[in-house]
Amino acid sequence: MTDTVDDVDMPYEEDSASQQEKIEALQERLDVLESQNEEMRDKLLDANAENNKYQQKLERLTHENKKLKQSPLFVATVQELTDDGVVIKQHGNNQEALTEVTDGMRDDLEPDDRVAVNNSLSVVKKLEKETDVRARVMQVDHSPDVTYEDIGGLDEQMNEVRETVELPMENPEMFSDVGIQPPSGVLLHGPPGTGKTMLAKAVANETDATFIKMAGSELVHKFIGEGAKLVRDLFEVARENEPAVLFIDEIDAIASKRTDSKTSGDAEVQRTMMQLLSEMDGFDERGEVRIIAATNRFDMLDPAILRPGRFDRLIEVPKPDAAGRELIFQIHTRDMNVADDVDFAELAAMADDASGADVKAICTEAGMFAIREDRTEITMADFRGAWQKITESSETDAGDDSLAFA
Ligand code: ATP
Repeated sequence: MTDTVDDVDMPYEEDSASQQEKIEALQERLDVLESQNEEMRDKLLDANAENNKYQQKLERLTHENKKLKQSPLFVATVQELTDDGVVIKQHGNNQEALTEVTDGMRDDLEPDDRVAVNNSLSVVKKLEKETDVRARVMQVDHSPDVTYEDIGGLDEQMNEVRETVELPMENPEMFSDVGIQPPSGVLLHGPPGTGKTMLAKAVANETDATFIKMAGSELVHKFIGEGAKLVRDLFEVARENEPAVLFIDEIDAIASKRTDSKTSGDAEVQRTMMQLLSEMDGFDERGEVRIIAATNRFDMLDPAILRPGRFDRLIEVPKPDAAGRELIFQIHTRDMNVADDVDFAELAAMADDASGADVKAICTEAGMFAIREDRTEITMADFRGAWQKITESSETDAGDDSLAFA
C-alpha cells in the first residue's frame, strides 16, 4: 500500500464543506478504516496459523520421505580400531572396509562388536551383543522332558518321526549297510497346538539329543545379512551340541512362495532361506544333527524347500479325532485329582474340533473351577464349565484357528 495523502479520495467536497463537516467526514472515514484494519489483522493471524500448520505438515512429510528414501542398513563386525578409522567386515559378502566414525561412537566400539552400516559403509549404530540375539532366537534344551507317552492320538505320525529321525541317529549303520541316505529333513505340518513341537522334543529326549528350537519369524531380521548369519550360527550350535535335533518352527516365515515384490525385506528372507538350503545340502558334514521343521501354513511354502534331499519327508499332524482327544484328556489329567463321575469319552465328544492344546487348556481351566470353589477334586461339571468358558472366549477371538489359549 503506497497511497499518499495526495492520492486519497477525500470524503468531502473541498470547496463547499464546512470545517466541522470535514472533521466529521474524516472521523467517519477513520472509524471505517480502523475496523477494516482490525478485520485484516484477524485475517492475517488466521493465515499465519494456517501457514504454521502447513509448515509442520511439510516438515513431517519431508521427514517421512527421507525415511522412505533411506536405504536399509547392513550388518558388519568391527575388526580393528586404527588411527585412520575403523575396519569393519560386512556380513553376507565378507568384504572389509575402512570407515570413519565420530569420536563418541569410536569410544563406544571394540573389536568384534556388531554394527549397522549404511550404503556408504558409515557406522550408524552399535548393535546388541550376538550372544543376546542367539539367546533370543534359539532355545537350547539339553534334556527335554517330553516323552512319547505324553503325546496322544498321533501314533502314525510318531512312528514316522521315529523312523526318519530316531532310527538314523541310533542305527546309522543300517542306512549305510543298505546303501541309502536317511531323509534329510522332516516337515511337520498342521494346525496350531496339535503337538508338532512335542513330537520334536520327544524324539530328542528318546535319542538323548540336545533339542534346539528356533522360530522362523525370529530369523527375519530388519538388518540385512543377519538372518543368513543366524542360520549359520544355528547349525554351528547344533554341531557343537551333537547329537542334536534342530527344530525350526514357523518355517513359512523364511520359506514362503516368492512374491512379486522386490523389497529389500523380501530379498533378506530369500537370502535366509538360501542359507538354510545350503546348510541342508551340506548334509554329509552335518553329522548327528537331524532337522525337523514345522508350519501351520503348508500351502504357503516355496517348493524349493520340499525338493529331495531337503524337507522331503512330509508328515501331516492333524487335529485329533474323538479317540485322540480322549487320550489327550487322559494324559493331561494324569496328575489331577479327577472325580469318579468324569467320563473322558463324553468330554472328547463334547470338545469337538479341539486341538491338543485346547484339550490341555480345558483341563487347566477345569482345575481352576475347583480351586475357585476351594475343592481339590475336579468334577465333570468343572470340565463342562471349562469347555463353555473356552468356547465363549474363542468366539470373541475371531480369526484364530485354535479354539483357545495353549
Ligand atoms: P504351534 O504350531 O502353535 O507351534 P504345535 O503343533 O507345535 O503348535 P505344541 O506346542 O506341540 O503344538 O502343543 C502345545 C501344547 O498342547 C503342548 O505343550 C501340549 O500340552 C498340548 N498338546 C498338543 N497336542 C497334543 C497331543 N497330541 N497330545 C498331548 N498334548 C498335546
